[in-house]
Amino acid sequence: QEIIVQTDTKSYPVLLGNGASTQLPIILEKFKKKPSQILIITDDSVANLYLADIKAQLKGWENVHSFVFANGEKAKSFENYYAIQSYALEKGLDRQSAVLALGGGVVGDIAGFVASTFMRGIPFIQIPTTILAHDSAVGGKVAINHPLGKNMIGSFYQPEAVLYDVNYLKTLPKEEVRSGFAEVIKHGLIWDRNFFNWIISEIKSLDDLTMDRLLVCLENGVKIKAEVVADDEKETGQRAILNFGHTLGHALEAAYGYGKISHGDGVALGILAATRISEKLYPELRLLDELLGYWKHIGFPTTIDKSVSPLELLDWMKKDKKTKQNHIHMVLIQEIGKVNLQSVPDDVIIETLNEFYV
Ligand code: NAD
Ligand code: ZN
Repeated sequence: QEIIVQTDTKSYPVLLGNGASTQLPIILEKFKKKPSQILIITDDSVANLYLADIKAQLKGWENVHSFVFANGEKAKSFENYYAIQSYALEKGLDRQSAVLALGGGVVGDIAGFVASTFMRGIPFIQIPTTILAHDSAVGGKVAINHPLGKNMIGSFYQPEAVLYDVNYLKTLPKEEVRSGFAEVIKHGLIWDRNFFNWIISEIKSLDDLTMDRLLVCLENGVKIKAEVVADDEKETGQRAILNFGHTLGHALEAAYGYGKISHGDGVALGILAATRISEKLYPELRLLDELLGYWKHIGFPTTIDKSVSPLELLDWMKKDKKTKQNHIHMVLIQEIGKVNLQSVPDDVIIETLNEFYV
């Protein structure tokens, strides 16, 4: 299965399926200039499982290096970014070198940002290993976190290719399956009512997520992402809809402490809050109860931890990149498949957040 992502700056394939990673040598051979050195960037969990496999694909290539860091959201730090750059310089990487991002969204985001800035930019390939990464590996947003906010330092930088080997997903722990599934549901809600209906009728719990169904989820998710990004690579308009659930989601990640709540769980809770606010604006929507029921079946959180206050969350939400002149802008849902970006007054946010504590 090959899905082409077409943006203003680049067109590249997403190869999705069993054994997609075996295409790596072929993709590298197609580079305009054969890479002089290859730097594999990954985390320790993924390295234990799949680094040898990727290195085996690269036999015959000289100058293959790997940089392995401790897994988790905390790795998207300036310190780690600097450490990778130092490693790349010490190993003598040059402008003709290439980066392979082997892992989930954390690896893809930081490795992509390293590639986008090392010597003003060298090519990179995404080799996603989580369900969540069907979202993060496509579209070219790469970034690290700052203590003052998620993904605050980054760039738009497209990969040469995305090799999405679904074999790798078999070892994902359940919480990571759930986290990635949140972005699948998001793609259905923002873009495609039929896909959303298919999800809730076919996947009643995470145990229903067989390989066949998972492939349907990933294929649809990647296609929707590719479609949205194609028309607005740098997010001057419609791309913002992919942020559905993320204004609160990112705030929760930052307020709980990076890594304390998974990205997907944060987004899932953020989708509930955005839906609640939407219902206040569009009373005919009536979606929240359905989502709440479904969230319980999947195991997503439906309440906010008492350790963080609504005011604290409001402050974090104001640091969002969509904030303009101190006004929070959120993606709201009018009906399934139809969302838009709107300014939401602070008091509406506080009032809504208060409904999510027990
Ligand atoms: P992650 O990369 O931390 O992976 C989750 C955990 O699963 C890690 O502990 C990892 O070691 C482990 N893991 C990865 N693959 C595995 C496998 N095949 N088997 C067993 N364990 C495996 O997190 P994630 O959920 O993939 O990504 C979250 C990040 O993605 C967040 O930082 C988020 O901001 C970012 N993101 C970016 C975009 C984008 O457009 N750039 C979009 C969505 C999310
Ligand atoms: Zn996300």
